Amino acid sequence: MKTIIEPFRIKSVEPIRFTTREEREKILKDAGFNPFLIHADDVLIDLLTDSGTSAMSSKQWSGIMDGDESYAGSRSFYRFEEMVKKITGMEFIIPTHQGRAAERIIFSIAGGPGKYFPNNTHFDTTRANIEFSGAEAVDLLNETGKHPEIRADFKGDMNVEALDKFIQETGKENIPLVMLTVTNNSGGGQPVSMKNIREVKEVASKYGIPLFLDACRFAENAYFIKIREEGYKDKSILEICQEMFSYADGATMSAKKDALVNIGGFLALRNSDLAMSCRNLLIVTEGFPTYGGLAGRDLEAVAQGLEEVMDENYLHYRIRSTEYLGEKMLSAGIPIIEPPGGHAIYIDAKRFLPHIPPHQFPGQSIVCEIYLDGGVRAVEIGSVMFGKYDKVTGKLKSPAMELVRLAIPRRVYTQSHIDYVAEVLIEAYEYKEKLKGYEITYEAPMLRHFTARFKQIN
Ligand SMILES: *Cc1c(COP(=O)(O)O)cnc(C)c1O
Repeated sequence: MKTIIEPFRIKSVEPIRFTTREEREKILKDAGFNPFLIHADDVLIDLLTDSGTSAMSSKQWSGIMDGDESYAGSRSFYRFEEMVKKITGMEFIIPTHQGRAAERIIFSIAGGPGKYFPNNTHFDTTRANIEFSGAEAVDLLNETGKHPEIRADFKGDMNVEALDKFIQETGKENIPLVMLTVTNNSGGGQPVSMKNIREVKEVASKYGIPLFLDACRFAENAYFIKIREEGYKDKSILEICQEMFSYADGATMSAKKDALVNIGGFLALRNSDLAMSCRNLLIVTEGFPTYGGLAGRDLEAVAQGLEEVMDENYLHYRIRSTEYLGEKMLSAGIPIIEPPGGHAIYIDAKRFLPHIPPHQFPGQSIVCEIYLDGGVRAVEIGSVMFGKYDKVTGKLKSPAMELVRLAIPRRVYTQSHIDYVAEVLIEAYEYKEKLKGYEITYEAPMLRHFTARFKQIN
């Protein structure tokens, strides 16, 4: 088989800045050993996130010039609306400035104290918006999804029996909606099968509860269904997306992921009364319903991006390029969440650095080392991000996994960039015994990972 190539050629380039190891040592020290505090100009390859970091196409850029900035009834809105309707089959399409704005609107209407929202795994902003309303966010992931070393096709699936049991115990009147996140971002970018979407819908319907999709990576999920699930190999990506959304009563979306743009989102609904309430809230906090906090040009770029993201050549390259990085690391023995997900590779830092205990932040140690050695920026997802102190003993309670995420921006880096990232990691793995743990010297009371400062333990 021939190499799977980038399905585009490059028309406009953006230089990246090279630094020396000496310079990076100073930069990292000044940033308190926290890569979130490094200037992006000092990063060579930035794998901090795949959110809002996509390269837009020439057609999207021409759409930006062509955008209609009319306050009400903009032509760009109608193009956007038509595209989202075509994919989701939903009647009411509400633009928002990003995914969490759609979440805030739906959960401030549906949420509140005493309410529960099950999901395969809630993304942080989804959980935060639910909890902010006073409601509770519940994760009901299937068992294989919880084991990084098990290879399975659909590790993002919800545990359907657990959902049925949860609804019976909690009372259907306390569950305004059930959600499925496709793909499961917090669970390693693992896909959800069509079978699972159908079964979750059946259970929810039995109790009269609507199903919503957190659809940020709907096209990547559809591609996994096409190549892994029986009965879908001859269907087009659009047909698979349409079937996925056909089981849903609503969807939230961050266009910063699978709409290939730098800002934007939407809420899609079937119920007209709910859409009316959401639009009324949108007007107060985001903007008029035909722009929702975005410029007309943004809507134009989203519409075009949604079309491009469903191109099979694009998805083939996209999923393969993530898998390619994963394979290189696995062949060097580096422990990662298997199989590679759609948008990122997650390193298992506990197995990478068994000599550094969770309270000395093994993930942070890897993140710092790959910046020092190669100028690569990644993010720790472990005790720094999710560690909590016991109220009585003051001891750190660590999450189940210590991970480092390498998120791949869409259409931004070429194969040699990815080869370089693999080389940096493989080298670090060879001298892993030399890596040291860290301790925190400053932390904020909430979301500490963004601003914390560290010191190396000698
Ligand atoms: C990014 C993301 C969101 C939130 O979207 P923003 O545009 O960052 O507000 C919600 N859910 C999932 C699964 C995401 O990946």
